Amino acid sequence: MNYYNSNTVIYLNGQFVKAEEAKTDLYGQSLHYGFAAFEGIRAYKTHNATRIFKAREHFERLKRSCELTGIPFTWNVDELIKQTYRLLELNNFKDAYIRPLVFSEPQMTLVAPSQTSIMLCAWEWGAYLGDRQLKICVSPFERPNPKSTQIEAKISGNYVNSILATSDAKNKGFDEALLLDHKGLVAEGSGANIFIEKNGKLFTPAKGNILPGITRATIIELCKVLDIEVVEKEITVDFLKEADGAFFCGTAVEVAGIHTVDETVYRQRWRDSIGATLQRAYKNLVLEKVNYEVII
Ligand code: PMP
Repeated sequence: MNYYNSNTVIYLNGQFVKAEEAKTDLYGQSLHYGFAAFEGIRAYKTHNATRIFKAREHFERLKRSCELTGIPFTWNVDELIKQTYRLLELNNFKDAYIRPLVFSEPQMTLVAPSQTSIMLCAWEWGAYLGDRQLKICVSPFERPNPKSTQIEAKISGNYVNSILATSDAKNKGFDEALLLDHKGLVAEGSGANIFIEKNGKLFTPAKGNILPGITRATIIELCKVLDIEVVEKEITVDFLKEADGAFFCGTAVEVAGIHTVDETVYRQRWRDSIGATLQRAYKNLVLEKVNYEVII
């Protein structure tokens, strides 16, 4: 896939520049050691205009990811949101995936940098995992121990773990990986949170060993409106496999139904599941076809 062409513009440290001409330093700590923070955000063409879904929450998380890791973050969130809308306009994007990245200036030691850069880029991206129900496997790669990194920060280095898990799953013929935490409990996908359906209720891993997703929070809010009970708790692989169904959720994947976990096939049809109801509700929400704003 081509992420940019000769007309594409990105935002780099206060200026809009051609993606083809933008430069970074090869001596940066981010490139060598993965010491950088990023976000994944979607903008949707609604009936009114293009709207960035939960822009504030995403930029606040970017700031928090930097604070948690000691990456200098010197920008104003409102200003970044304004510049992101401008970025979409300049590229004439209506539906887009937006990628902010905070990265280091030249720095080769293992001391956190004193100065960082920010870039905002975007591209047009359809359904990340397609619209089908997914075949997933329990990955041999665990999520990093929360004592070995800042697990709640969206930092680049943590994604080596995600790439290893996804590659392993795809090599084995699955669509995606499900990672367990250091205690062997269900944690999350390589780039998405998981919800499990059993006897008309939803269950999702409690915070602590996962990236607490903005979509996860949105799903929990939608469940309040739709009167669906959600329990946040520790979840075993046996519980996952004995459930009625499950789905991943995240900014890129949105809501994606899970069909099989390893050799276990969910017998409940996706279209009859709570997940399918939430998939429709989420789509309506991001497209502003319904007004759940009272709660969200
Ligand atoms: N977990 C991981 C590891 C992720 O990379 C993502 C994507 N950011 C998520 C969960 C879902 O987060 P969000 O809903 O904020 O996109």
